[in-house]
Amino acid sequence: MKFELQKIYNGFRLIQERRIKEINSTGRVFFHEKSGALLLSLENDDDNKVFSISFRTPPDDSTGLPHILEHSVLCGSRKYPSKEPFIELVKGSLHTFLNAMTFPDKTMYPVASRNEKDFFNLMNVYLDAVLYPNIYKYSEIFMQEGWHYELDSPDREISYKGVVYNEMKGVFSTPESVLFRNIQRSLFPHTCYGKESGGEPDVIPELTLEKFLSFHKNYYHPSNSYIYLYGDGEIPPQLKFINDEYLKNFDRIEIDSAIRPQLGFSGLKEVTDSYPIADTEDERDKSYLSLNFVVSSSTDAEVYLAFNILEYLLLETPAAPLKKALIDAKLGKDVFGQYERSILQTIFSVVVKNSSENRKEKFKEIVQETLGRLAGDGIDKRLIEASINIKEFSLREADFRGFPKGLVYCIQCMDSWLYDADPFMNMNRLLKKLKKL
Ligand SMILES: [Zn+2]
Repeated sequence: MKFELQKIYNGFRLIQERRIKEINSTGRVFFHEKSGALLLSLENDDDNKVFSISFRTPPDDSTGLPHILEHSVLCGSRKYPSKEPFIELVKGSLHTFLNAMTFPDKTMYPVASRNEKDFFNLMNVYLDAVLYPNIYKYSEIFMQEGWHYELDSPDREISYKGVVYNEMKGVFSTPESVLFRNIQRSLFPHTCYGKESGGEPDVIPELTLEKFLSFHKNYYHPSNSYIYLYGDGEIPPQLKFINDEYLKNFDRIEIDSAIRPQLGFSGLKEVTDSYPIADTEDERDKSYLSLNFVVSSSTDAEVYLAFNILEYLLLETPAAPLKKALIDAKLGKDVFGQYERSILQTIFSVVVKNSSENRKEKFKEIVQETLGRLAGDGIDKRLIEASINIKEFSLREADFRGFPKGLVYCIQCMDSWLYDADPFMNMNRLLKKLKKL
């Protein structure tokens, strides 16, 4: 079907349309006039259809509110009052993906299915869950998913329990998670990224039911939502369903959920933290050393892609020059890096594993010297070409942890869309441009 710009389809005004050759799709952005919801669709011949609804949910503390809410809305809703519709869905549906994810600044509810009827059913369950959850009716949901006191017997001590509380106690037991939490907290102390959206176990019990419910009321509104449709399904019936069953019941409101940037520091900041090891373990060579840099805004398409390639080239290929320099200097047993892009200001990290604190200065020296040398002398052209080719392939294949392709693209679109930039920004022909440079 042909769509016309600015025309309204089942309550949705088409505001942008673009052919995206690289992923063989037509991308469209619609604005739902009555409710203020934004909807993005990627139309193509992939039968593995994806639907997702995301909300911008920047936390202002580390009680894990966004994460607890993510769990709680899936514990029953208006049309699906069963206590565990999510578990029942997992059993009865033909879905190829079904989950919910809490990010540092957004919460995403994606589903995927190859079966048309199943796809509509999944959309129905998820939209009902996020817009009409039973959390207002039953305060037990908050206590069960968030936190509550538990007393096994009168002579025992009272303890905290809760699904998210227990889950987060597990999460913070690995050194990598402690490290990456510290990286974001130290680089962005004055923004939502300085808080723990998943919840810090010691802080989770500070969350009140009142604050929990008002967070839902404020942020889980269509005016703060980003809806995504992907695949070979017919778009008009999908729009009609979302409008008739849900969005037409909401009026547009102003919501301040803007993600604010962190101002730069005047110099390098140093942070030391610890992680738990077993009594029987030796503390020697258990240190992690890490250097981290805020690179740019994730809405800078060229840097977004170029750094993704650069991180791979410097630290992940067999000939990776930065990794090699650090290993050769015997700073630790393993070296890895990361370029974090699902965040307003992207981060480049270099990490040495199984090192010791007294090798810290040497580590800084080698990173600086190697990067300086590569910037001065240039990088081997063949290495650059090979890295671009691998990244180009992975963009096209979108093969990531067994996720459906459509979901990988959804996350990529959100990387710019959430910050009010063009959602298709990271999918166009930049690779060709980079190759030419
Ligand atoms: Zn969880």
